[in-house]
Amino acid sequence: MDHAAALERARVLLAEAPRVLVLTGAGISAESGVPTFRGPEGLWKDFRPEDLATPEAFARDPRLVWEWYGWRRGLVAACAPNAGHLALAHWMLGRAGVTLVTQNVDALHERAARTAATARGGDPSPALPIRLHGSIARVRCTRCDHGAEGDDPVDATARETLPACPACGALLRPDVVWFGEALPLPAMQRADAAAREADACLVVGTAGAVQPAAGYAMAVVRRRRPLVVVDPGPTAFDGMAEVKLTGSAGAVLPPLLG
Ligand code: NAD
Ligand code: ZN
Repeated sequence: MDHAAALERARVLLAEAPRVLVLTGAGISAESGVPTFRGPEGLWKDFRPEDLATPEAFARDPRLVWEWYGWRRGLVAACAPNAGHLALAHWMLGRAGVTLVTQNVDALHERAARTAATARGGDPSPALPIRLHGSIARVRCTRCDHGAEGDDPVDATARETLPACPACGALLRPDVVWFGEALPLPAMQRADAAAREADACLVVGTAGAVQPAAGYAMAVVRRRRPLVVVDPGPTAFDGMAEVKLTGSAGAVLPPLLG
């Protein structure tokens, strides 16, 4: 199959599926310029993410970890959703039955949902993702169950200036999943339910090495439903894909979903 034929085949598979599970990873944000936090541009003051994105690091030095998240929030705020995020958001607002599960913490799906909904004069909620790894644009309390959207600048000059919980006064933390932490159970349950019901799966920009995310796509394949993969590189899903579209999300998703 040449690329045009593969694209058309994938279009039909996704259009004919009443329920579609979409799984996205870091690759969908690559064209927005979101740093990977793994390469050299992800280094901050010579710390590795593994040194800072842990509950132990936060317990030891919350000021340092908040200073790092403030820097990362600034990097992400300077980025914008790309054509891939926007095509996906418009597609989800224009049809029923799509569940989006993301491993990204950059909130670009959320921003694309709001942009698309504003353009269409509707509600963004059908295009909002299930966030397996949380969001750097959210906070939650280290003591009680308070959580909220929020990416205001953080004053990390001292322990005393860090954001405090409006409900109980304890320290707030970024609402992201750190190394060694469990994923949020409600997000996992919703993703699992979508994987058990989906009539097709679309995977964009994830190598498929991180569980349980990869397992949701694989569960759809085990039920003998078709899988479409969009990625410029090799992924763990390639051998089980009905259609592999080799290319970037920003180039492939608009013609695939538009
Ligand atoms: P990964 O790094 O394992 O895989 C990224 C995939 O994206 C690769 O297969 C690569 O070929 C592909 N890719 C590169 N450019 C692309 C493009 N323009 N369009 C489409 N695909 C492209 O990423 P992962 O599977 O998401 O797992 C990494 C982990 O790191 C996850 O746990 C994630 O939460 C975290 N992370 C998140 C962000 C973010 O929020 N944006 C960024 C980096 C890492
Ligand atoms: Zn609290």
